[in-house]
Amino acid sequence: MQELTIQDFVAMWERALVRVTERTDEFSKLDAVIGDGDHGTAIVQALTSLVEAARKGTELKTMLNDMGFNVMMQTSGSTSTLIGGFLLGMGDHAEGTGLNAGQVKQMFKGGLEGVRKQTQARKGDKTMMDALIPAVEAILSCESEDIRRMLSEAAKAAKAGAEATVEMKANFGRARNYGEKSVGHADSGASSWACMFQAFAEQTEK
Ligand SMILES: [Mg+2]
Repeated sequence: MQELTIQDFVAMWERALVRVTERTDEFSKLDAVIGDGDHGTAIVQALTSLVEAARKGTELKTMLNDMGFNVMMQTSGSTSTLIGGFLLGMGDHAEGTGLNAGQVKQMFKGGLEGVRKQTQARKGDKTMMDALIPAVEAILSCESEDIRRMLSEAAKAAKAGAEATVEMKANFGRARNYGEKSVGHADSGASSWACMFQAFAEQTEK
């Protein structure tokens, strides 16, 4: 796959919405271990509003901006702030109606930078960053020009990153108060972001 078109990109998010929706309860239960148990519904709401904006898109930069603002305006809470930051950051580094491998790398790199504007969480803190950082790193270090391959490596890295959170102790935000209680369960955000990257890869394999 040498080019990622705007249609491919919209389809990736549509698939993410489908896959995350299938696992809503699982993500909420994981969140309940160290939080308020709303992550499943929060991420589904966020994806629903960004997909709605994506379907009206005709150009990547404008579309990503609309997706980001839509998700931040329509839903509140950290889930939508982080995913909104990701979309706005991507929008700063993407334009037109199709991207080559190098441009896809820049877009995802921009997405991570956008999330970093919204959170101080680092790798190892048991947050969604434990899936997102390895996923973006895998994209950036992929030597292939095949975008399908890039996204498949990102999905593997995100999955491994989410699985690694099982052994971690929550070290960020309110979840920190739960300390040891958080060990033994994966982080809900890392798990849902891994699910999204899995969906992105799955869609481009079609
Ligand atoms: Mg929550």
